[in-house]
Amino acid sequence: MTETITIEKQTGKAFYLKQGDVLTVTDPQGMQVSDMVLFNAADFGEKISSGKSLDFEESILLTAGNFLWSNRSRKMMEIVEDTNGRNDFLLAPCSKETFEIMYSYSGYHPSCLDNLSKNLAPMGIRQDDIPTAFNIFMNVQFDEQGKISVLPPTSVAGDFVRFRAEMDLLVCLTACSAEDSNGGTFKPIQYSITPEDKSAN
Ligand SMILES: [Zn+2]
Repeated sequence: MTETITIEKQTGKAFYLKQGDVLTVTDPQGMQVSDMVLFNAADFGEKISSGKSLDFEESILLTAGNFLWSNRSRKMMEIVEDTNGRNDFLLAPCSKETFEIMYSYSGYHPSCLDNLSKNLAPMGIRQDDIPTAFNIFMNVQFDEQGKISVLPPTSVAGDFVRFRAEMDLLVCLTACSAEDSNGGTFKPIQYSITPEDKSAN
């Protein structure tokens, strides 16, 4: 029996996975991004690395069959299933400054960086220690000159990405708070954890 947990719109949640556990991240309504960061549960100095993952996977578009690697060049997760197939690993989590610099927004605006920080603070992780997130369902397009545009996600209600933990992990997920990344509306994200089936080994 697997429990489905909902991350309400513009919030986040942190939790632990054991090696072999399978994490399913679902977009219940469609067109909603979830930023995901990973830390080695035994040593938070080891964390997900965009640079290492793009390098070792030899692609800037990671999907089923690809691995997410750490800053210490070790596999943290395998992407085992991806019903939508479009994720981003180039852009940093949206932050209060994102809205000030890119959208001239002033005042408080919820953000992924804020939600990652808040949920990881109890584990002693500081905001400056938060790496570039794997941006599930995020639709970042680029042309031949390298010009980037953020388009609405192509995910539809019920799309999911399934990850297998390659080591014991601390995970933090968000329901992203950036208007442009989510087609202009904010929706929840859901996840569930399936423990490794020891009998299968
Ligand atoms: Zn965001």
